[in-house]
Amino acid sequence: MASQLHSTSKPTYTLAEGCPQQDPASSFSINKPGGGGLLLLQDTQLIETLAHFARERIPERVVHAKAAGAFGEFEVTHDITDITSAAFLSEIGKKTPFLVRISTVGPERGSADTVRDVRGWAMKLFTEEGNQDWVFNDIPVFFVRDPIKFPSVNRSHKRHPQTNLTDSTMFWDFHNNNQEGIHALMCLFSDRGTPASLRNIDAFSGHTYKFTKKDGSFHYVKIHFKTDQGIKNFTEAEATKIAGENPDHNVQDLFENIAKGNFPSWTAYVQTMTAEEAEKYRWNIFDMTKVWPHKDHPLRLFGKLTFNRNPQNYFSDIEQAAFSPSTMVPGIEPSADPMLQARMFSYPDAARYRLGVNYQMLPTNCPIGPVYSPMQRDGFANFRGNYGSDPNYVRSSFRSMTYAAGKASHDEWAGKTAAYSSEVVDDDFVQATALWKVLGTQPGQQGNFVSNVAGLLGSAIPEVQEKTIEMFSRVDAELGKLIAEAL
Ligand code: NDP
Repeated sequence: MASQLHSTSKPTYTLAEGCPQQDPASSFSINKPGGGGLLLLQDTQLIETLAHFARERIPERVVHAKAAGAFGEFEVTHDITDITSAAFLSEIGKKTPFLVRISTVGPERGSADTVRDVRGWAMKLFTEEGNQDWVFNDIPVFFVRDPIKFPSVNRSHKRHPQTNLTDSTMFWDFHNNNQEGIHALMCLFSDRGTPASLRNIDAFSGHTYKFTKKDGSFHYVKIHFKTDQGIKNFTEAEATKIAGENPDHNVQDLFENIAKGNFPSWTAYVQTMTAEEAEKYRWNIFDMTKVWPHKDHPLRLFGKLTFNRNPQNYFSDIEQAAFSPSTMVPGIEPSADPMLQARMFSYPDAARYRLGVNYQMLPTNCPIGPVYSPMQRDGFANFRGNYGSDPNYVRSSFRSMTYAAGKASHDEWAGKTAAYSSEVVDDDFVQATALWKVLGTQPGQQGNFVSNVAGLLGSAIPEVQEKTIEMFSRVDAELGKLIAEAL
């Protein structure tokens, strides 16, 4: 392993208050001849060492707990200034440093990382206009489109409240009764659900965003990062074997490749759509269970991402990192996708709980440019100047500020989401069927899909199995039959 174990510098050991201390390998005690002895409460070094250890763990992320992280560089390779005024996208050749964290979703921090799951892809681009977070997944769609179901879908993929075991009956029961997730299930149970490494996955915004210009014009967009290493997957059997042999396989693979200078890269594309097109489009563009087929909206190339540096300290660089879809620079805006709107609240809220209200001050989250946010004051662990004597209320006469230009107003097309409902209709199966057909063009992939589903479904109770077979029969009658036979 290429981590740095030795350093030539020889610092003087102190406690956190900076006072030099004795060798930290022994406690201060009244020794008795022959060993043993009474410890003294005055041994601050011992007390501090034990007390700090008891508090070393911070809350694990409720989802996306197990991860690898890296630093890298984003480069604009093709002009897109006709659709966005974001400064970091303003000219070909412009480079922006970023931090990235790639995770499994359901399992805990110590779990195996080759298991079947979605991979989260969270990145923070440190731009001159502040941070731009892109919090993506390695599949282009999601299991639900109404955010009120977000805790439920995740719980159904985690542990049963009584047995503390992952539970296939619970997993399939959720999806049988919330079938808008069928398209995401098709992605998850293909071999892309068990990637051979984090270098061999794509990443997708999933949500529709807006790229905007200063003149008020905008386009709806979906962003895609395609791996330059090619897609490579494990079969279910390989992923299971490796999970037992090395539960950190994917973390290790990424760290070691970066340490060797074998820097992985991705090509960045955007799909674009005007508001007029969106209104007439075959698909609701605010429904996160749908893609925009490439033939309707081809991929437009705009950049390259390269991972080129490992974290120096996992906790400080990666565990303390906090990402949110609400962190956007001028030139990028949210759409009326209800899942995106809800994530914009819940990601910062999760960070406030996990890291404290001043989590943006942690070095790993800090923007590279100046921050002046005097309406966010005080709070736990406020370790900057807290804006000194500056006014802490708006419209003060005593210190004026300059502001960003107000966002140009533009017509917002809200689609039909005002009357949003989770009702599942036949249309929800059309893109799932398209993916089943795509798998049919790849040797062995339909067969693997069937056995991947049957593998998990086999341990569900019979009533649930029947409903799941019915659900997959709506994708393709033959697929339902094949799963039933495999069971
Ligand atoms: P195309 O028919 O033009 O291309 C097929 C797409 O499917 C490619 O993007 C391919 O990715 C991707 N793909 C291949 N195998 C899998 C898999 N096991 N899991 C997920 N994606 C896979 O695509 P269309 O746009 O016409 O859409 C057809 C279907 O492809 C969709 O219903 C959707 O399920 C899937 N898809 C579409 C995407 C989109 O944004 N339009 C994005 C990803 C998937 P690659 O090029 O890397 O091989």
